[in-house]
Amino acid sequence: MIIIMKPSASQADVDAVVSRVRGFGLDVHLSAGEAHTIVGVLGNTGALDRSSFEVMPGVEGAVRVSKPYKVASREFKSADTVIDVRGVKIGGENIVVMAGPCSVESRSQIIETALAVKEAGAQVLRGGAYKPRSSPYSFQGLGEEGLELLAEAREVTGMPIITEVLGPSEVPLVTQYADILQIGARNMQNYRLLQAVGKVETPVFLKRGMSSTIQDMLMSAEYVLANGNYNVILCERGIRTFEDYTRNTFDINAIPVLKQLSHLPVIGDPSHGTGKWELVAPIAKASLAAGADGLMIEVHAHPAEAWSDGAQSLKPDRFATLMAELRNLAAALGRSM
Ligand code: PEP
Ligand code: MN
Repeated sequence: MIIIMKPSASQADVDAVVSRVRGFGLDVHLSAGEAHTIVGVLGNTGALDRSSFEVMPGVEGAVRVSKPYKVASREFKSADTVIDVRGVKIGGENIVVMAGPCSVESRSQIIETALAVKEAGAQVLRGGAYKPRSSPYSFQGLGEEGLELLAEAREVTGMPIITEVLGPSEVPLVTQYADILQIGARNMQNYRLLQAVGKVETPVFLKRGMSSTIQDMLMSAEYVLANGNYNVILCERGIRTFEDYTRNTFDINAIPVLKQLSHLPVIGDPSHGTGKWELVAPIAKASLAAGADGLMIEVHAHPAEAWSDGAQSLKPDRFATLMAELRNLAAALGRSM
């Protein structure tokens, strides 16, 4: 349920509503809009009576949120959420590109790639230090050393860094380094992990699970939000279908659907969405045309020698060409980049 306060409501009116809600053992999420403060009620609101709030001073109305996800829904918050990561705005009119290698491999690799993607206009540096690999015999990432190298690349370029956290026990360590915590597709429904990242303040980048519906994804976002972290970014990265020409089937529909259903920023990942570098540019453009707030793109100086995901990685010069094309597209879409 959300309780909409009148523009004339006083702080005391809001406080009275909040304490009444808490009196039922429920939690609240306050969102101050331009005209109205909205009191979002979290938890099982089945027993609450709308009319008992509507008679309180300063209350304009109370409505039940019809979706199973609450805080993530547009009903709960109509304005787009904009997340500020070290001055980089994610959501809103800015289009953000997060780029870098699939895995951090060495100091020179991450620093050279960081400088190249920054030069081309990327605003966030990506790189995996803990890799969720399908095979236990594949490279698992450099671990903490990889986090240190990412921090060094941030120092050199000034770019914020995004990196994956694989398990709940690693959240404190990864949070010490990362500006954005990535939850990988394989972990989208790892509820212990979602709860753990919900309890920190670092923004969370939630990738769609391989066989998850859009609603499953929003329910996972809700876990993070309900635990108190309101900085959640959604990522469409392709799903498993019968089609096996591409690594995954990029669900372009998911972008406008997520934008309709939720106020959270939506990012497209054409690298994992296709698995083939030749398809990255067209699907990147399609993502922006469909309304994405940005992109995550894998870049490697020598894709043939990459320790993971070389086949879908762009060389830096191809990435720079794509970025120039995307800037024109962003302008045509009335967005800044
Ligand atoms: C990645 O970003 O390198 C990654 C492992 O992505 P996903 O979880 O989408 O497969
Ligand atoms: Mn990858």
